[in-house]
Amino acid sequence: MTVTVNDDCISCGLCINMCPEVFDYNADGISCVTGDPNNCTELVQEAAAACPVNAIEVE
Ligand code: SF4
Repeated sequence: MTVTVNDDCISCGLCINMCPEVFDYNADGISCVTGDPNNCTELVQEAAAACPVNAIEVE
């Protein structure tokens, strides 16, 4: 599983709250992937589906 957050992120914090082991804010206050998404694939999929701007890309 490869996960990226694109530039559409509006910093709502949802994915970081759902899966803090994988997502965190970067220096610009935008969500980014900081952990291994393969450790909690279901939560990552749920976060991607719940992102209000579809900024989480999962491959
Ligand atoms: S859920 Fe989407 S918009 Fe919200 S912080 Fe995560 S990537 Fe950004």
